[in-house]
Amino acid sequence: MGEQIRITVHGDTDFVDKSSLAQTDPAKVKKRRERKSKRVRAPKNPRPQEWLAKDLSQGYIADYKPFNFVDGEGVRCSLYVSGCLFACPGCYNKVAQQFKYGQPYSKELEDQIVADIGQSFCQGLTLLGGEPFLNTQVCLSLIDRLRKEYGSSKDIWSWTGYTWDELQKESADKLEMLSKIDILVDGRFLEPLKDLTLQFRGSSNQRIIDVQASLKAGKVVLWKNLVR
Ligand code: SF4
Repeated sequence: MGEQIRITVHGDTDFVDKSSLAQTDPAKVKKRRERKSKRVRAPKNPRPQEWLAKDLSQGYIADYKPFNFVDGEGVRCSLYVSGCLFACPGCYNKVAQQFKYGQPYSKELEDQIVADIGQSFCQGLTLLGGEPFLNTQVCLSLIDRLRKEYGSSKDIWSWTGYTWDELQKESADKLEMLSKIDILVDGRFLEPLKDLTLQFRGSSNQRIIDVQASLKAGKVVLWKNLVR
């Protein structure tokens, strides 16, 4: 690359190669800048079964937060798994997009989570990330353990970047996980639809879905306690 110089056309600044200056048309420079500024940053859209937990998950945990009030209804224990490929611009937990962020999930941590959720004041488990459905090995291990210990007396919420419809075309492990949870908050975080007044969601395209009612009805049924 040759020496770069800065030029300003109608108030827009750009850098161009000095050697090409003779051929630089200011109108073209302006158009190029306009095209660049109009480019919409958007999350990725995988094909069905393109991303599989068996290929991607490293079994890592970004964080565990016992007894919080923000990740769903009631007092909850939240497990943040590591790794997500959706790459939503404005992601609330960008570091957890890496599959090897944090620490490996362990039997000791699972024992701790199961014991914490056993407290009478704790309503249930929340799975977030990262992407729980790209870490089904970890999530299913914990879900199965909770169901064995507590049956349906504790509820299980999960966030996902997949939409409900996308999950229906996904791999067996994702469908198994879906069949075992109570509430799904679905869809990518879309910055242009960001709304901080929504319950438990960051953008208005996301839905809080009653999973068991939806599977029974064969269509999306929203959570009955939805206010906004
Ligand atoms: S799906 Fe969630 S964790 Fe993944 S990039 Fe989007 S906001 Fe971040």
